[in-house]
Amino acid sequence: MIKIGICGTAGRMGRTLVAAVVQNPHTRLAAAIEHQGSRWIGADAGDLAGIGTLGLSLVDEPAAAIDSSDVLVDFTVPEATMANLALCRAAGKPIVIGTTGLDQAQRRELSRTAEVLPIVLAPNFSAGVNLTFKLIELAARALGEDFDIEVIEAHHRHKIDAPSGTALRMGEILASALDRDFGTSAVYSRQGRTGERDRKTIGFASVRGGDIVGEHTVLYAGLGERLEITHRASSRMTFANGAVRAAVWLAGQTAGLYDMQDVLGLRD
Ligand code: NAP
Repeated sequence: MIKIGICGTAGRMGRTLVAAVVQNPHTRLAAAIEHQGSRWIGADAGDLAGIGTLGLSLVDEPAAAIDSSDVLVDFTVPEATMANLALCRAAGKPIVIGTTGLDQAQRRELSRTAEVLPIVLAPNFSAGVNLTFKLIELAARALGEDFDIEVIEAHHRHKIDAPSGTALRMGEILASALDRDFGTSAVYSRQGRTGERDRKTIGFASVRGGDIVGEHTVLYAGLGERLEITHRASSRMTFANGAVRAAVWLAGQTAGLYDMQDVLGLRD
């Protein structure tokens, strides 16, 4: 049994993760963490998740909670994730990170920590999306420079970053498949007199509304034909089950920065 600590337990993903950990035959929920001042401190993790009382209360002391866990699963905000990363490093405990919106400096710090700690960082833990990453790369290589490529994503109204981490990863994969520099290819907005589309760009469009769990389309627009590859998530359980699977896998790994391609065995 792998003992899992969850950080961000009262959040949308945190609550779903509680259910996923409890349902997984290889894992046990060891700690449920929220930030100091959260109104959920002391609440029962199972009650919050809607799966019945578990007898495990939410705590606001991450260091002690990490000590009692084999692996930490963190779906919070970048600042909290970086603080937890340092605590996991000090405790020698692997960490699975689902938080998106990390900046360049935070990513560099993560890479440095991965020299001594096993880490899974994935913008999307669903198996379907990780297969989609493969398919969009194949399509970009096959269609080449003749098609204009755009990434369109849609999420619920509460999402605080845009484009989504998954859309950005798609952009990186597409740029790499086409031998382009992602930083200079990406176009995040268009307004007013934009001029004609620069053929080397990869455009992003973000839709926000309601309770959309997560949708991503890569559009390849050519002359006379159009290809669209779409993934739609209809339940957060797909991300939570993937993250728990990653935690079980990570418990047996040496130091390194891994993603879901490694966990699912999709790495070339
Ligand atoms: P959410 O509902 O806002 O949940 C985040 C939780 O973290 C909240 O309960 C928040 O508390 C808590 N939190 C904030 N600071 C904290 C701290 N210092 N220590 C402990 N807990 C803290 O957001 P969500 O929809 O669950 O998403 C969370 C993150 O996961 C986002 O970055 C999102 O993009 C990402 N995500 C990733 C995937 C994936 O597959 N990789 C899938 C879905 C979402 P308060 O509300 O009180 O601030």
